[in-house]
Order: sequence, then C-alpha cells, then structure tokens
Amino acid sequence: MRAMILREQGGELELAEVPRPEPDPGEVRLRVRACGICRTDLHVLDGDGDLTDPNLPLIMGHQIVGVVDAFGDEETAESSELSEGDLVGVPWLGSTCGECRFCRMGQENLCDCAEFTGYDRDGGFAEYCTADASFCFPIPHGYPDRQAAPLLCAGLIGYRSFRKIDERAERIGLYGFGSAAHILCQVLVERGKDIYAFTRPGDTSAQAFAEDLGATWAGHSEERPPEELDAAIIFAPVGPLVPESLKSVRKGGEVVCAGIHMSEIPSFSYDILWGERSVESVANLSREDGDFLQIAPDVPVETEVTTFGLEEANDALEALRHGDFNGSGVLLID
Ligand SMILES: [Zn+2]
Ligand SMILES: [Zn+2]
Repeated sequence: MRAMILREQGGELELAEVPRPEPDPGEVRLRVRACGICRTDLHVLDGDGDLTDPNLPLIMGHQIVGVVDAFGDEETAESSELSEGDLVGVPWLGSTCGECRFCRMGQENLCDCAEFTGYDRDGGFAEYCTADASFCFPIPHGYPDRQAAPLLCAGLIGYRSFRKIDERAERIGLYGFGSAAHILCQVLVERGKDIYAFTRPGDTSAQAFAEDLGATWAGHSEERPPEELDAAIIFAPVGPLVPESLKSVRKGGEVVCAGIHMSEIPSFSYDILWGERSVESVANLSREDGDFLQIAPDVPVETEVTTFGLEEANDALEALRHGDFNGSGVLLID
C-alpha cells in the first residue's frame, strides 16, 4: 500500500510502498477513505514538547475515517459491534490498559499506558491502517467522509474543552480560530452562546470566517473583547495567550488550554488569577467524548474542509502551519 512515512523528526514525510498491515487479535483493519490533519501532527513532525518519542518509522494521522475491511480474529469479529463494510472513525486515543488507576477511575484519557494513533501506533496517512476494535467510533449515516474526519480530534477535543467549563457560561472566548474552534463555534452558537473569536494579529480572513459562523465578535488575540468573558478556550499553542485570556475573563471565569503542546507561559501577576479564576488543561479524549459524533449532525456541524491527496501530506501540513486555509485540512485517500 502507499503510505506517507515519518523516518526522523524534524524532516518531511516520505511517500513509500509498504506492506498492508495485518490486524492483531482485538483489532480491525480499515481501508482509509479520509484522514484529517491536526496541529498535533505538526508537533509530532517537529518533535515539539513531550512528543519526542514517536514509534519510528511512523505513519502519522489520527482523524481517520475508513471502512472495516478485516478482523484480527474470529472472536473480535463476533464480539465487536462492527461489521465488515462499516464506516468508522479512529481518534488519537488508540488504546488504554483498562487497569491503571486512571482507567479504573473512569479517566481513560489519562491512562498511564495509553497508545496514541499516529504516534505510538501507525495512523491514517496511508491506504490502510489497523485499530483496536473497541476504540473505533461509528460514523453517522450520510455524514460525508471529508466532513467527518475533523470531528475525530478537532471536534472531540473542542467539545471536551467546552464540557470543562460551567454550563452557565454565556460569553465564551475561542483563542485560535482553526479546525477545532470553527467546529465548536457552530455547536455553541446553536446553543445560544455568544462567541468571541481571537485570531493571529492581521488574520482578517479567519475573523471574517468566525463572524460568518455566528461569532458575536472577532478580533486579534491581544485585543480586549467588548465584554468580559465567562470562559475562554485556548486552541492556539501559544503560551502568552494564558495571561492574555485571563485578563479578559470575569471573576470565577475559566481558561481551558486545549492543545497538547504550548510554548512557554510567561510569568504574570497574581491579580489576573485572583477572584477564583482558574486555568486548566484538556488531555486527549475518552471514548465518552465520542458522543460528539452523534451530536454533530443534529446541529448540524458543517466542517469547512480543504482537501489534499495522500502524496500531498507535506504540503497540507505546511499549509496548516502557515494558516493558509480556514477550517480543517483533510487528506482524501482513494
Ligand atoms: Zn489532533
Ligand atoms: Zn490505563
């Protein structure tokens, strides 16, 4: 099969012909139809933050939409809710141990021995991949592949971040208006929330895009919004946004950091945290967050997608890095 391979961090992906993977017991094999690209893929490519130990050579990609093509063993075929021909999604959380204290407490997103798709195990920048059958989500009927792919990380992480904040929050700031924010914005506008979208300075295209999706206000990240925010979610991997956003949230307000990596947070004076403001992070996802796949078509979430071919994965990642498109980037694999 054709696959884009990461041989060394800090380089580029290389198109290669590799053996089609065989599923182990407990796994399925998928014929990949689409795979979203994510900022985390850039961190894996570059070796940023804690993401310095990928299972090289690696096939990245953790927002996979594919068709079940084979089962690893009879038992999985019989016990799994999946059948051959089903369209399923595979997220970043590839497997967990089920035994550590986090798994036992229902916090599998924090599992000590978790394996991540497109990092510890091969992902979806390829014609085929394998996945743990119990970590595949059904894709709602009729939802297009290319629109579904970004839901699997951008959508799920955005929704998990929203669930961290007080449900009474009305005015919600979204810092970094890319794939995750443009999906979450649609959900929150439908729920009657006021969205304040913050972009890179000068990114008037993303600001106009946010307003088109129903944001109450859009501006750049160093601006103060016209009203105090009840909460803010930071999707951009930019540490200085933590004190910036704290200055814009009211007493008791919350700042949620949704990225897997962030540049260093500058020191700040206690008065912007005082008043029971809080800062927390969101790590990974749990299978419960997969509920979002069923919620999205009801909104309905319409992901804005720029598509690339498999062999264009490097161009797609550079376009993401430079903010060359609004919404989400997806590799279509035929
Ligand atoms: Zn991701
Ligand atoms: Zn565990």
